Amino acid sequence: MTRILAITNQKGGVGKTTTGVNLAASLAATKQRVLLVDLDPQGNATMGSGIDKRSLKQTIYHVLLGEAEIGAVRVRSTSGNYDVVPANRELAGAEVELVDIDHRETRLKTAFATLEHEYDFILIDCPPALNLLTVNGLCAAHAVLIPMQCEYYALEGLSDLVQTIKKVRANLNPQLQIEGLLRTMFDPRNTLAQQVSAQLQQHFGDKLYRTVIPRNVRLAEAPSHGVPAMGLDQGSKGAQAYLALAGEMLNRAAPAV
Ligand code: ATP
Ligand code: MG
Repeated sequence: MTRILAITNQKGGVGKTTTGVNLAASLAATKQRVLLVDLDPQGNATMGSGIDKRSLKQTIYHVLLGEAEIGAVRVRSTSGNYDVVPANRELAGAEVELVDIDHRETRLKTAFATLEHEYDFILIDCPPALNLLTVNGLCAAHAVLIPMQCEYYALEGLSDLVQTIKKVRANLNPQLQIEGLLRTMFDPRNTLAQQVSAQLQQHFGDKLYRTVIPRNVRLAEAPSHGVPAMGLDQGSKGAQAYLALAGEMLNRAAPAV
């Protein structure tokens, strides 16, 4: 069965896109069929997958406004071996244009119905905001994957996100779960990071992935080459961490024997 995950955190720069690209490539490396959906006008997941966002005629923007079929818009990331529904700055207009359209929160969910059976995983890279685009992501998803940096304000932001998830659950998508919290850019020598990490463990228990993503220069360099970190340096700590995360997710998903 297809698992649809929204990668979301309204805080900017916490590693959502890095997680989207590298997790997509890691799942694909374990023979999973993966679609990565870029729901951010910044188009970072598109570029990071080796697709030039400036050359696109049609994007997720046209899908959300009903002007294109999602299947016709998707492109292949040859560097990552997964499919991408790309985005560029045009998507910023969708927020305003969607307001007057029927079922504006469920446009993405409806679009998925035509192709979700083709994939094992659909990952949605959400923008750093709790806006209508993110709500479309949350309505279309089975669960949310929350990347976060272990710093003081992270916990505060988390409660806003949990409130939003509760609202979406109450009004639009009752099945929405929290898939997991992912510690990103982790520096084990930092005492505050250790403290926040312990608090997360206390609050979220099993929902906190055991896999921790370290701060790693390969993860930061890879987007400028349009490849996931494993395409640049398979043995790097960053690439290995995302492979471990994919393994942890697949193990969790497997039925107990
Ligand atoms: P936004 O909210 O703007 O969409 P984001 O949450 O998607 O940001 P990323 O773009 O993935 O965050 O990461 C922010 C920056 O940190 C990028 O320059 C990225 O290359 C870098 N980065 C992400 N994860 C790591 C890591 N584990 N180690 C080193 N650098 C990282
Ligand atoms: Mg991003």
